[in-house]
Amino acid sequence: MKKGTVVVLSGASSVGKSEIRDLLLQDKDLNLFFSISETTRPKKEEEVDGKDYYFVSHEAFANSVKNKELLEYTEFNGYYYGTPKAQIEYLVNLGKNVLIEVEAQGVGGIKLNIPEAVCFYVMPTSFEELEKLIHERYHDDDASIERRINKAKMDMEIAPLFRNIVYNDDPQKAYQQIKAKVLEEMEKE
Ligand code: 5GP
Repeated sequence: MKKGTVVVLSGASSVGKSEIRDLLLQDKDLNLFFSISETTRPKKEEEVDGKDYYFVSHEAFANSVKNKELLEYTEFNGYYYGTPKAQIEYLVNLGKNVLIEVEAQGVGGIKLNIPEAVCFYVMPTSFEELEKLIHERYHDDDASIERRINKAKMDMEIAPLFRNIVYNDDPQKAYQQIKAKVLEEMEKE
C-alpha cells in the first residue's frame, strides 16, 4: 500500500500557523490527519485534551522521552512539547496523510526520522509585524513576551534552511500555496 505523506508546518510563534493549519485540515483534497503533540503546558479553556494536544504531567512527558516515544521534543516558554512517533507511523502506514505543526527547532528531528517529509516555514511580512502580533496576542509578563520575541528571532534565523518558505500576508493565499505544493509532492510519491 502507498504510504501517506507527512507535511510539516513551522514558523515563529504568532505568525498565524494555526489559521493556516485549520484551513489545511479542512481541505478534503489533502485529507490530512493532525498529529497531536504531547505537552506539559496547561490546557487553555477552549482546548480539548486529545484533540489539540495530549496534556500530560512532567513525569509522563519524561517517560515518553525515556522510552523514545517522541520523534522530537523541545522546551518552549517553560513547557515541553513533543511529537509522538507511534500515531504518525500508524497513520502513514495506513496510507493516511499527516500534518505536524512544530516550532522551527523541531523540524530537524522530524526530517532525521522522516526524510521525505514536506516542510513549510511560515514567515511574517516583517519582524516588526511579528513583534506587533506577539504583543497583541499575549498579555503575560514582560519577561515572557521578551522570551517569545527572542525565540521568534531565533526561529526566523533557521528559515533559510527550509526549501518551502511561505509569507503570511494573507492566510488564504499562504494555504493555497502550501496546498498546491503538497498536491504536487503527493503526485510524485
Ligand atoms: P502553543 O503553546 O502556542 O500551543 O505552542 C507553542 C509552540 O510550540 C508553537 O510554535 C507550536 O507550533 C509548537 N509546538 C507544538 N507542538 C509541538 C511539538 O510537538 N514539537 C515542537 N518542537 N513544537 C511544538
